[in-house]
Amino acid sequence: GSVPRTLPPKWLYDDAGSALFDRITRLPEYYPTECERAILRDHADDIVASCDATTFVELGSGTSDKTRTLLDAFTAAGHLERFVPVDVSEGTLRDAAARLAERYPALQVEALVGDFTLHLGHLPRGGRRLVAFLGGTIGNFYVEERAAFLGALHDSLEPGDWFLLGTDLVKSSDRLISAYDDSRGVTAAFVTNCLHVLNRELGADFDIE
Ligand code: SAH
Repeated sequence: GSVPRTLPPKWLYDDAGSALFDRITRLPEYYPTECERAILRDHADDIVASCDATTFVELGSGTSDKTRTLLDAFTAAGHLERFVPVDVSEGTLRDAAARLAERYPALQVEALVGDFTLHLGHLPRGGRRLVAFLGGTIGNFYVEERAAFLGALHDSLEPGDWFLLGTDLVKSSDRLISAYDDSRGVTAAFVTNCLHVLNRELGADFDIE
């Protein structure tokens, strides 16, 4: 094994972890969510016009909250038929998919429970596809993992498909530390929750304190 030991971030996201992450996105210090929402809002029409997708896949979709900005633009102007949110966090994914199906009755919403490091070969094929990977989740990968992910994604895409990546740029350490170690301790609770997940699902015996 590696030294220091590492854990794939997917173990952070049981139902409790996804709920805590959702609280993080509402913290004033956690700037990425509102920043990305504003970028998507400003460019949604261009994105829709450029790719004119019939299938929209979102990897690590979580609550798909910001994604509505794009779905609104697709429904207003595009030819979108199908939305495929992909996430390991099953309860959160299913709740989000049900809400979206209600909000966009003309859209087929096909939630896919899966791991985007393993299951990209299972993405639905056909039509013009847009695959989005938002929220800086690409930052969950170390360099070699990132290359493997992008390679596997490349293999699963076809000519005419599009990839939309939402990622942060370089920031001062002060800004990053306050975003990722917030004063209310929500991020600390989020990370600690991972130890509960490991104890429960992988038979670990971490003393949470
Ligand atoms: N896209 C949302 C959520 C980002 S948080 C946003 O921008 O706010 C990262 C999301 O990716 C979580 O919903 C988590 O459950 C999911 N995730 C993490 N690792 C994953 C993996 N290996 N496969 C699939 N989903 C994963």
